[in-house]
This record gives sequence, structure tokens and C-alpha cells, in this order.
Amino acid sequence: MAARPVAVVGSFNQDFVWHVERFNAPGETQLGRFDTGPGGKGSNQAIACARLGAPTRFVAALGDDAIAAQARALFDAEGIDARIETHAQAMSGSAAILIDASAQNMIVVGAGANALLSSAHVEAERAAIESAAVLLTQHEVNPDATRRALEIAGAAGVLRIHNPAPTVVPAAAAPLDQVDVLTPNESEFADLLRAHAGLSLAADGLHALGDDDLHALCLRLPPPRIVLTLGARGAFVSDAGTGDAPAGRLRVPARPVVARDTTGAGDAFNAGLAVALAEGQPLDHAVHFATRVAALQVQREGAARGMPSRSEVEREWGIGNRDLGR
Ligand code: AMP
Repeated sequence: MAARPVAVVGSFNQDFVWHVERFNAPGETQLGRFDTGPGGKGSNQAIACARLGAPTRFVAALGDDAIAAQARALFDAEGIDARIETHAQAMSGSAAILIDASAQNMIVVGAGANALLSSAHVEAERAAIESAAVLLTQHEVNPDATRRALEIAGAAGVLRIHNPAPTVVPAAAAPLDQVDVLTPNESEFADLLRAHAGLSLAADGLHALGDDDLHALCLRLPPPRIVLTLGARGAFVSDAGTGDAPAGRLRVPARPVVARDTTGAGDAFNAGLAVALAEGQPLDHAVHFATRVAALQVQREGAARGMPSRSEVEREWGIGNRDLGR
């Protein structure tokens, strides 16, 4: 099936990563192995979409600094059509990440320009959204701009996928009334149920639930289709049924791979989902494709760096454009 455009409206962060034996105590200084690279959910997802073969537009905000220059060069190198709003008074987005010997992490995000992405800029780039097959948004930029993008897409009949990650924007601000396919992980799902349905559930309590109970919980949130990602346990798909389509639910196990670095697994998954849905694949096929994209990504280090190309996904699993496989 032909590649169709995906528009991503979201964040760019430069990740500054220190690998340490253990986390610092307050006031303590220690040595660590340093690494830096591109990150931010919007940018990671845009890079993955482009590598998966979709013509990709990325609407984002940056400062006027060295990080911004690097980010622009990256988008060019990845073949992304970047529509950047520059905020000279702000720093570009950044994240300080500590990773300890047991691969746990501690993260501080400096939202910087991401928080200033304006509805006016989204409005100015509306043609890029209206002419896409899918719009993909997250929770890492100004929520007003995200909402505006979703409204523009909705009015133009563009399929809207919203990934309510990370939990930096309060769950109550999630624009759930403007979403066709919602893709939370377990803790985000629990937060959204608390904020939008008044239900108190611990994220780890979801493990024990059977398919009927999970489906019933999904129906408590406004989006008609929910793809709940469950880390190494895969994904759960709930479809409330729209028009002639019957309601349904489905579990898709993760691929049995040895994960080296699961940072960006959700971004790889969302990009795979967006690209497959943009190509007109049904939701179940798209989730199987997304699962394969994420399985390749978790075997590599680095969030954006580890995103696989379309040919890598097809070579690894022996699937072509017309048959995304199950
Ligand atoms: P998460 O954001 O952690 O829920 O992960 C998103 C998706 O990435 C999951 O639905 C899986 O398809 C995939 N994934 C995450 N962790 C692993 C893993 N350890 N092995 C294989 N696939 C994984």
C-alpha cells in the first residue's frame, strides 16, 4: 500500500544522559559516563515515521541556540519536513537523565520552547495537518497547541492518534474528546481513568485484570479506540465500535526479544501504528506492525538512534507492504 503522509505535532528535547553505578545522595558529586543525543516524544516519533517510509511533517518549537541548530540538521538528515516555531527567549527542550547499573532512570525535563509551541503556529501550519492521513500528538508541548492541532485534524477528517505521554501535562488536560485512537501505557491509563472517569486503580493492579474488565475500563474513556501498551507483555486493543464496525477487543503479545534499552519503545510503537493506519491498514494489523517496530527498537541503545527503517522491519519479520503479518 502506498506511503501516506503523517503529521506529528510535538516536542524536541536534547537528552543529556549520565550512566552511574547508583543514584546520587543529596549534595553528593560522583563520576558517570556521559552521552547525549536527540530525544523528545514528538521528535522520536517523527524520526521513526520517516524511517518507516511515511512522508513526515513535524510541527514543533525550538529556542535559538546550538541545540536548535543540531535539531534542524537532524530533521534534514532524516528527510523530515520540519515546521519550526523559534522562541529566541527560551532554551530548546532538554532532558537530564541518570541511568543506574540496574537500568532504572531518573529524568528531569526542561520543557523550554516546547511549552511555548503556540496555537497560532499550529494554525499557520494547518495545511500540513489537513493534507496528512494521520495526525500524531503527545503530552510534551503546550496542551492548547495540541488541542488546536487535533481540532484541525478532526474537522478535516484526518485520523487522530494521541499518545498521552509523558505524564508532564496533567491527565485532566488530555484532549480526549478530540481523539480517535488513544495509546496510553498502564500508568497513563490509570491516571486518565482517575482524571476523566473518577476511577482509582493502581497501574500495577491492571496486570491482574482479564480482557473483559480491561475492555470495560477502556469504554469509560471518550476515545472510541484505545491501544493500551503493556511493555514486555504487549498491547491490549479495545474498540468501542463505530458506525457499522462492531465493538471488539484483542490482545497482541510483544515479540520475544532480548531488550537492551526500552527507552523510546512507546515512541517506536506509536510511529508504527501511525504509519500503518496512514497506509489504510485495519487497526489489528497496525498493532501487529507497531509491535514489530518496537521489538526491533528495544534491542538497540538510544531512543531516536534505535528507530528501525522500513526495510529493517520487513527483513527481520519477512513481511511486505501488503501483508503486515500477524
Ligand atoms: P511500553 O511503552 O513500555 O508499554 O512499550 C510499548 C511497546 O513496546 C509494547 O506494547 C511492546 O510492543 C514493545 N515492548 C516494550 N518492551 C518490550 C520488551 N521488553 N520486549 C519486546 N517488546 C517490548
